[in-house]
Amino acid sequence: NVFGYHDFAAQAKWDKAFLAIPDAKLAGQHLKILTSAPHWASSPEDYKTAQYVEEKFKAAGLETHIVPYRVLLNKPVKIVVEAFGASGQKLMSGPTPEHVDPAVDGGDPFQDDPRILPAFNGSSPSGDVTAEVVYANYGTLADFKKLDELGISVKGKIVLVRYGNNFRGVKVYIAQQRGAKGVLIYSDPADDGYFRGDAYPKGAYRPESAVQRGSTQFLPIYPGDPETPGVASTVDLPDSQRIPADKLQNNQPSIPANPLSYKDAAPILRALAGPGVPHDWQGALPFAYHLGGDKAVTVHMHLEQDIALRTIWDVVGTIEGSDPAQKDDWVVAGNHRDAWVYGAVDPNSGTAAMLETVHGLGDLLKQGWKPKRRIVVCSWDAEEEGLIGSTEWVEQHQEPLRHAVAYFNTDVGVSGPSFNAAAVPSLKQFVSEVTYEVPSPKGGSVHEQWVKDQREQATSSRRSRPAADASRPEAALDVKIGTLGSGSDYTPFIQHTGVPSTDIGSDGPYGVYHSVFDNYNWFIRNADPTFVYEQQQARVFGLEILHMANADVLPYDYSLYGREILGYLDDARQQATRAGLQLDFTAAQAAAERFAKAGIAVHTRQVAATGNEAALNHALREAETALLDPDGLPNRPWYRHTIYAPGEFTGYAAVVIPGVTEAIDVPDAARAKAQIVALAAALSRSAAILEGAGK
Ligand code: GLU
Ligand code: ZN
Ligand code: ZN
Repeated sequence: NVFGYHDFAAQAKWDKAFLAIPDAKLAGQHLKILTSAPHWASSPEDYKTAQYVEEKFKAAGLETHIVPYRVLLNKPVKIVVEAFGASGQKLMSGPTPEHVDPAVDGGDPFQDDPRILPAFNGSSPSGDVTAEVVYANYGTLADFKKLDELGISVKGKIVLVRYGNNFRGVKVYIAQQRGAKGVLIYSDPADDGYFRGDAYPKGAYRPESAVQRGSTQFLPIYPGDPETPGVASTVDLPDSQRIPADKLQNNQPSIPANPLSYKDAAPILRALAGPGVPHDWQGALPFAYHLGGDKAVTVHMHLEQDIALRTIWDVVGTIEGSDPAQKDDWVVAGNHRDAWVYGAVDPNSGTAAMLETVHGLGDLLKQGWKPKRRIVVCSWDAEEEGLIGSTEWVEQHQEPLRHAVAYFNTDVGVSGPSFNAAAVPSLKQFVSEVTYEVPSPKGGSVHEQWVKDQREQATSSRRSRPAADASRPEAALDVKIGTLGSGSDYTPFIQHTGVPSTDIGSDGPYGVYHSVFDNYNWFIRNADPTFVYEQQQARVFGLEILHMANADVLPYDYSLYGREILGYLDDARQQATRAGLQLDFTAAQAAAERFAKAGIAVHTRQVAATGNEAALNHALREAETALLDPDGLPNRPWYRHTIYAPGEFTGYAAVVIPGVTEAIDVPDAARAKAQIVALAAALSRSAAILEGAGK
């Protein structure tokens, strides 16, 4: 099945040697150390984790540097949220600290650390607002439109929305566009609390006081340091190259937002009057929800944020490539290290595994193994605030990354036993193949378990979030591999720079996301007590790197890519019909067919290749770059990929052929027409490169 190596036996030997090294116990130790203190980006404890990673990278023989950037981050100084009933009586006064009863089910040993910051939203401005409340369900575009239909305005109101469905920054983006004064985002027990299963510490789900922190930057406009889109925030970047703080409306909200537990949200929801909610807006709290907007509840939000330039630290480790013709074609792998609090699952389950991957690479080096291409392993900082450490680094290395052959991401490395992946279509087959070689703790291979899991359950992880292509069978693949939207560090690589990317991890019930309770105690009780899934994750991640670093022929599958794009076009045509738009897709269709045909032809050449394939490889890689449109997407030029972007109104979930589909959504026929032209041009450029590849 595997293509990519002239000498399978030699590669198999190194694969085997590698698989023996990642150690479950050591992964557990890394995790324990990395999560021993809250390590919010830019804090002294965050710096300590950078030093720990640096030390492990160096011990494995990687040329390693801590790379600082100066970026704009808000830090909460004072957070007050209180609610009053119609006659002025106090309904709640918060936020309530995150706390579980120490006497029940073992309690939680981490909850009382004085370094825990109050729960807050990244990118929220300071604000002191008082207004009546409207409940807007998940705060999707459809939810806000539904409120319009029901005659309820959010203008001048504080909008209460629940977590789930879209990226939280998008909730704020839409609320702000509609004139809301503030946003409160709470975790409903229907989505990750008792309605799903037992709450922590008894089970894996969210207890009543637990809060989901999180960024509310307008990620679909651009990620990274808000003041420097497209430019790296190096420590010596002059202020003249930064957008002044008062001109950041594009990607920073202007209205305050704060997260709440359902313990704090319940008194507000219970007191709301006005019409009852549409059927599927009802959450799992034990009373009927109402839309509000009738002065039954007034909320006062007073947020004081210290918004300042702060230093963050990526850790970057390199293994030189040995093939003079290909050593500059980097293989990049990364995971973020910063956490809202302890981050045992998000992200340090990924970091612990990555350190064992690096341990494996180090031991191979000692055994005489040499990667042909340069390997660059990165521990990103300030991902939580908006993919900042990765975005700044990618913006700084645009030139070498033009020919980086892959970016392998992991974020939530392990929250349970179900392996999951998302990838650009050219790497779906590649990820699938790697998993045949790794044993599953449940027996058989990771691949076998993956197939079984997907058959048994429709998983709900971000990676497998149904995208536009979810219902389409992918002929050669027996596993469903998700589409890269956003919400993790692959975004600057694939969507800004055109580096083919994957995102992997292993998932299970996980209700403590971005709360104090995402800690080591939760992890060993719920996710992976013996760290065998950590070991599995280290192995899969490592084989991705190993295979890509030494492939004779780059293992991209453009035939699958072509089929997927043809499917996206079918969907877009139907979407246009539904929207009543007369659009001529001929040019894009012809270009996509040409691309698909070239993809099949080049696949044949890849399988047959036997010699030095530097030229073929170069073309295979260029074909992805050619899918970028240098002008970027309308209103969000930082996003340059013509096939994938985070949706303007989804954030996490991808929109495919975004220029075209979002123009149809508006609907805007002229814009759609222009975007069809841009898409056709990109596909033709890429097809031409594939047609010439290896000839
Ligand atoms: N993983 C982060 C989140 O989902 C990403 C934040 C961002 O991109 O702004 O909150
Ligand atoms: Zn994360
Ligand atoms: Zn996170």
